[in-house]
Order: sequence, then C-alpha cells, then structure tokens
Amino acid sequence: MIRLTRKAEFCAAHFYHNPAFSAEENRLMFGKCANLQGHGHNYVLEVTIAGEPDPATGMLLDLKELKEIIEREVMARMDHRSLNHEVPELAGKIPTCENVAIVIWNLLAPCITRGQLDRVRLYESPELYVDCTPDSRPDAGRTSGGKSA
Ligand SMILES: [Zn+2]
Repeated sequence: MIRLTRKAEFCAAHFYHNPAFSAEENRLMFGKCANLQGHGHNYVLEVTIAGEPDPATGMLLDLKELKEIIEREVMARMDHRSLNHEVPELAGKIPTCENVAIVIWNLLAPCITRGQLDRVRLYESPELYVDCTPDSRPDAGRTSGGKSA
C-alpha cells in the first residue's frame, strides 16, 4: 500500500453561529468567530489517496485527474466564497475546520476511482489542522451491513 498526497490552497470566509444559542451564548461559545460579518482564512488542503501503483504506468492514479477533481469539487465551490452562505453542502452546519473537512471528504470520496481516499487534512492556519479519515467520518460503518434504524 502506498499513499500519495496532493496539496491545494484556497481562501474562504466564515463565521460561527448556532441559531439555537442566544447572541450572548454565541459570543461566549465562539468568541471573535461569532462576528456575523465573518473573517477569512487561507486554507491548505491535503488530499491523500491510498492504493497500489498500476504496473503499466507506475502510478497510483492520474495526477492530472486528481487535480481536476479537487478543482471541480473543492476550489470551484469554496475558493473566495463565504462558507456560511455560498456552499450548499454546509447549509445548516457551523463551518468549522472539522465540518469543512467532512464536507470535502464527502465530495471527493465518490470521485476517486483508482485507489481510495485515505485522508483529508485541512489546515485553517499553519498552527491548526484537522484530519478526516475513513474511520473518523460520522457516518463510518453505517453502510457496512449493520442493523438500520
Ligand atoms: Zn475562522
């Protein structure tokens, strides 16, 4: 098994607001991030694919295709956007680094046709990142034949 990672950067704005909280509770919970005018981040995304290289090409997957998938699924949706207002997949969710990484995972996973999506790492700043992996997704395991509610 080998892992290959491609990096991409995008800029986006967000704020944190839970409509179930009062204005004061939002301020207490989210601090500066609760300012409804929003603020921006330079996000750095790392997408890791795991699998075996194709013996005919020596490649795990077509890097150009992976770049195009990231462009289409992530950059076109999120770059220079308001994550609160302009990304339908985040509607009703607080656009934390955690939730944005989960949305990116869910957008990318069905598009990876060679190898498998192994990790989505999203940096919100050089000091902070989250990792989304197959077993860290909230829906992990639900489709593997267990009892459905
Ligand atoms: Zn922020």
